[in-house]
Amino acid sequence: MNKKNWIIYLLLTCLLTGAMWQTASAKKSIRKVILDAGHGGKDGGCHGVYSNEKDITLIIAKKVGQLIQAQLKDVKVAYTREYDWYPGLKERTDFANREKGDLFISIHVNSTPKKNSPVKGTLVLVCGASRVEEKQQSVGEYANTFQEDELLNPNDPATAIIIAQYSQAFLTQSIVLGTKINDEFAGQGRVTEGLRQQSLQVLASCAMPGVLVEIGYLNNVEEEHYLNSEEGQNEVALAIFKAIKYYKEESEKTPVQIVTD
Ligand SMILES: [Zn+2]
Repeated sequence: MNKKNWIIYLLLTCLLTGAMWQTASAKKSIRKVILDAGHGGKDGGCHGVYSNEKDITLIIAKKVGQLIQAQLKDVKVAYTREYDWYPGLKERTDFANREKGDLFISIHVNSTPKKNSPVKGTLVLVCGASRVEEKQQSVGEYANTFQEDELLNPNDPATAIIIAQYSQAFLTQSIVLGTKINDEFAGQGRVTEGLRQQSLQVLASCAMPGVLVEIGYLNNVEEEHYLNSEEGQNEVALAIFKAIKYYKEESEKTPVQIVTD
């Protein structure tokens, strides 16, 4: 089902059955993943002794994309950048929305101000509550762009409620995906800082579930080596890929419950 039909389906489901949107959302499957390699071009991101964040994020994004293409034949991949240039944050999310992605995954490398810091580990960020309004706005705007008939009118209170539920469902789904990514890292024996809600423009203006993954600390010598090694890069990409795969399988398996009273 394409996104437009999905929204219409959702609208009708809510209006006609009064069912919780979240239960209906379980029916949606993952058809396109947007991979966002953090920074790029003029913006190098953080740096270690000999490497820059922008280069590592691009390598990991491509490796995740290759795994998806090789193993999930029904899922398309779209990259916000495929080489060393800097798309602005709005450019990235506009692209993701235009591409009608089902998941948005932004890849970054963490750092602290200190050189040779002992701090290490992965961290997954999901969009925090303070950005919910902005998120609702982008969902509303986006809904409008593919509205051909008059089914969706953001000024209509009923539609506004649905848009709010849509945003809430995205947050819930982002947390589900983020938890899986964190679990995969933990399973590989990485230090994990878990999941955190944070106000982030790149996630707030995406009209889809999204996470920002900090794959390690570049100012930690051990992690800089790990993130620059073929083995480390493959492991990081595999953790993110497996989480996407399990998330997809789960969302397809969950039976749709229709609430009748
Ligand atoms: Zn970054």
